[in-house]
Amino acid sequence: MRLGLDIGGTKIAATVISPELDILWQISTPTPKQNLNDFLLCINQLIQQAITKTGTLTHIGIGIPGVVNEQGVLNASNMGAINQQPIETLFKKYIPQPFSIENDANCFALAQAHGHQLGKNEVMFTAVLGTGVGGAWVLPNRTLWSGAQNLAGEWGHNPLPDLSLIPIEQQLTCQCGQRGCIDTYLSGSGFSQLYFQHTGEQLDAPAIITRYRNQEKTACDVFGRYTHYLAHGLATIIHTFDPTCIVLGGGMSTIQELYQAVPQHWANYTLKPPVTPLLPPVFGDWAGAIGAALLE
Ligand SMILES: [Zn+2]
Repeated sequence: MRLGLDIGGTKIAATVISPELDILWQISTPTPKQNLNDFLLCINQLIQQAITKTGTLTHIGIGIPGVVNEQGVLNASNMGAINQQPIETLFKKYIPQPFSIENDANCFALAQAHGHQLGKNEVMFTAVLGTGVGGAWVLPNRTLWSGAQNLAGEWGHNPLPDLSLIPIEQQLTCQCGQRGCIDTYLSGSGFSQLYFQHTGEQLDAPAIITRYRNQEKTACDVFGRYTHYLAHGLATIIHTFDPTCIVLGGGMSTIQELYQAVPQHWANYTLKPPVTPLLPPVFGDWAGAIGAALLE
């Protein structure tokens, strides 16, 4: 049996899968990220629970935000007391089983590759539209590709292709320090910001989508702009690597209308109309943990 732990800034999701990839057990618990000892104890307890419920664990996969550097130190600003800790050495003390650590966006992508049954010669890009914008690549044989320096998939910090059409006083500065990043327009808060710029009203993405479905004009305009920006942003991915399919993730991926609207706009931005399927994510909140369980 394989255990996957998806460690997030607010909760840890744990799941055990069988060799046939059946889900045998799953649980979710708040992340005790204010205290390192509490955190390590929590990981240990989850492993013990998994063993009690399902038997021997052959491998443990751990998905975590940020990057673990060559010295095994975690760099993830949203992880409180766990940030900047030698996470690999600490886990070795608490985890007797073989384990591996991977970035959480990569774990999500691996789960999608299995859930969408990516063929052995196929390539997938996952575009995560959440609090920020991230992404990950899965190459043939369902192999993750993080890049030479862990930058692959960070398309959120490319400039928005339509930036030159936006008046300079409306262009947004990204938390990375650059101006006009895709992240600042295509994240959930970017979508809210677009609406705010039009109306002066601060609403979250689900509230704006409700107004869009009720045909409110400004909400329709903002949704139209968002889908064009997203289509243009993903067109650069198609031109760069031409993946077999693109899977969305994050909070914005629950908006069903995106899966029709975005591919309809693609032909405006690509050399020829692409046939790339744009797919919704599978496995819901458990995708990260399932992907972690699938790590080698
Ligand atoms: Zn940025």
